[in-house]
Amino acid sequence: MAQLSPQLKQATPVRAVRGSGVYLYDAEDRTYLDFTSGIGVVNTGHCHPRVVEAAQRQVGKLIHGQYTTVLHEPLLELTERLGEVLPAGLDSVFYLNSGSEAVEASVRLARHVTGRQNIVVFQGGFHGRTMGAAALTTAGTKFRAGLGPLMPGAAVSPYPFAYRYGWSEEQAVEFALRELDYLLRTVSAPADTAAFMVEPVLGEGGYVPAPAGFLAGLRQRADEHGVLLILDEVQTGFGRTGRFWGHEHHGGVRADILITAKGLASGFPLSAIAAPAELMSQAWPGSQGGTYGGNAVACAAAIATLEVIRSEALVENAEEMGRRLLEGTRKIAVDHATIGDVRGLGLMIGVEFTGADGEPRPDLAQRAHKEAADRGLLLLTCGAHGNTVRMIPPLVVNAEQVDDALTRWQEAV
Ligand code: PLP
Repeated sequence: MAQLSPQLKQATPVRAVRGSGVYLYDAEDRTYLDFTSGIGVVNTGHCHPRVVEAAQRQVGKLIHGQYTTVLHEPLLELTERLGEVLPAGLDSVFYLNSGSEAVEASVRLARHVTGRQNIVVFQGGFHGRTMGAAALTTAGTKFRAGLGPLMPGAAVSPYPFAYRYGWSEEQAVEFALRELDYLLRTVSAPADTAAFMVEPVLGEGGYVPAPAGFLAGLRQRADEHGVLLILDEVQTGFGRTGRFWGHEHHGGVRADILITAKGLASGFPLSAIAAPAELMSQAWPGSQGGTYGGNAVACAAAIATLEVIRSEALVENAEEMGRRLLEGTRKIAVDHATIGDVRGLGLMIGVEFTGADGEPRPDLAQRAHKEAADRGLLLLTCGAHGNTVRMIPPLVVNAEQVDDALTRWQEAV
């Protein structure tokens, strides 16, 4: 008899049999408030009826058509619809299955069009678990353990994590940009640097929104040195931060390549990179994509996802509910000396547990996480030390559900 790999057993296993909106249900019909969204995936909620209907309809028509031989209707229609939400200029889209694959494709594209090899990433960044994506990931040692010698070329520059440094955001940005300039002089010369890759909010690295001025500083240096700016919006895209894309919080900062996945298809495996057509059309070397990228059912679900986000004003709801959740979480933190910081953007909220000396306390985060699960509130942890509890509910969450989660969270902490 086959058994589940121990790696697949979670700290708080819920045997979910069905999901609806912000709720998951187990075999005993116990109800859980899912403030994980399957790690930021089901932005439209579990099994949104319009997503379900679109996927079911597509299953009956065409499940799979590989893009080297078949261009199917959902793929073409999705591309057209994405054109309505993608930042101006990013008018060419390539499809894959997962965030990690899209990250690797973006590296390949950046290397090809610049003729340079190095990628600069930022401390605490998470870009995936496959070899190449893990080589770009510095969100914690566990993500690289056991992978051995990895793809060369990633240079790591500081991220302006103001709380961690004990500085103001302005000081942290000034420091991070100064260090990047130094890195470009000493470690990764501009002539060898293809791209900067960054998340608008550090995700796995601790839910740290990029402070004002940081992305603009990267853009300025990218322009100055002919380096591409790759924005990894795998976790921050599709309304999660209260704007459609996380980088929209940073005025006119422009990406050369944008990576999206997670919320794109409400749970069906689908990812994409978007870039200006003049970049994308410079035929990449080698063979691109994979067997399942741009799957027809996933594309149909993504089209429905876009419709739901627009018709239910989920971006606006993420902003409003995010504010409510952040305020409520901050209020609760006032009574707890071991909560060092509460931060977030839209419906990406992180609560960092620290000791009196400011040292990370993963034990407390784990405990709060478990106590919350015991009260039917599902959460995740993150951060290099695992001492940050994150709240990432579906964007369909309402005020009553936010308040319910806050009550459970207060009891848990
Ligand atoms: N990039 C970011 C910012 C992510 O948060 C993730 C996943 O959490 C990835 C890339 C990798 O995506 P996937 O797990 O779909 O490979």
